[in-house]
Amino acid sequence: MIPIAKPFITEEEAQAAYDTILTGWITQGPRVQEFEEKFAAYTGAKYAVAVSNCTTALHLSMIVSGIGPGDEVICPSMSYIATANSIKYVGATPVFAEVQPDTYNLDPVDVGKRITKRTKAILLVHQIGMPADIDAFQELCNRHSLKLIEDAACAAGSAYKGKKVGSHSELVCFSFHPRKVISTGDGGMITTNRQDYYERLKLLRQHGMSVNDRVRHESDRVIFEDHVEIGYNYRMTDIQAAVGIKQLEKLDWIVEERRKIAAAYNQAFKGIASIRLPEEKEGYFSNFQSYSIYLKHTAPVDRNTLMQHLLDKGIATRRGIMNTHRETAYKNYMPGVSLPVSEDLQENSIMLPLYVPMKAEDIEYVIDCFTHEILAVADTDKALV
Ligand SMILES: *Cc1c(COP(=O)(O)O)cnc(C)c1O
Repeated sequence: MIPIAKPFITEEEAQAAYDTILTGWITQGPRVQEFEEKFAAYTGAKYAVAVSNCTTALHLSMIVSGIGPGDEVICPSMSYIATANSIKYVGATPVFAEVQPDTYNLDPVDVGKRITKRTKAILLVHQIGMPADIDAFQELCNRHSLKLIEDAACAAGSAYKGKKVGSHSELVCFSFHPRKVISTGDGGMITTNRQDYYERLKLLRQHGMSVNDRVRHESDRVIFEDHVEIGYNYRMTDIQAAVGIKQLEKLDWIVEERRKIAAAYNQAFKGIASIRLPEEKEGYFSNFQSYSIYLKHTAPVDRNTLMQHLLDKGIATRRGIMNTHRETAYKNYMPGVSLPVSEDLQENSIMLPLYVPMKAEDIEYVIDCFTHEILAVADTDKALV
């Protein structure tokens, strides 16, 4: 069986977790601080704050941006549901905008049309690792005095106009779930260039506590903490951070390996007219967190049949990215939302296996089976005509 994805975790990560457990410091402490410093340096951002996952990273980003009841935040519907949920957590309203069919990312023109007097922010998503057009959204935000928040859950190691994702705007949120490119089990990170955001994010992730455990532990004087606002427990543990430090050292290599597999798929499928392949435009550098193919209406096989045929041959695939407005949690309270591009992408795209290390023979097998499926049915159709 060829899986859709697999985290790249080695003995090194296991050893790092083991060593950390034996230090006796197992919740947020020195390893978390080291991971934050290294992640900030990697992305080129001034600061990084580690949290329990990307969903909590997004939630805290909403809070420090001052978003609350009555505010609207524009985001894609075609994203993992956590994107929109983070807006709901602060009592604000997600306003769904369309994506571009070739990049799966928010369409700046469509976003522009949805800005109202109540719009407070744009939450863009770098979908499956392909950077969105950050400059276009920054420009829109400047023009309308909006906040820009990046959901970079899938985009660790991706780059936009020569700079790593994480360094461009005020709040960028990453995920280290095993389905992403590097993992700490669960885990998240927020990068920011603003010191005030950095200080407040650190407070909010630890119960609003004015002095953290590590500082009290290291102090030679008695210090009492104060809880200066209502915070949360959104901490990452040192065990996770120790794994994250080892993962981060491998990130660029993992991304290069992923890009080689994506390039092999692109090369093999480029002559097939009935599909559209992922396209990396000038200035965009994807980590290929996923490899998604769109089946045009001329495709001789429908997406679900294709998925079943590949599964029968031992190849796991996934359907296109979900549309949040079609999920039960959303469709009942926001009926009538229609996003034809997003809905079409969900129904007609397929993600192929991509993980590191992926054996050359497995890549070949996926290529052969996919090509056979998408061409063989066409031949049968031709024979019938
Ligand atoms: C995975 C994902 C999330 C959620 O990340 P967690 O770390 O699991 O909370 C949010 N947004 C997008 C776009 C994602 O792909």
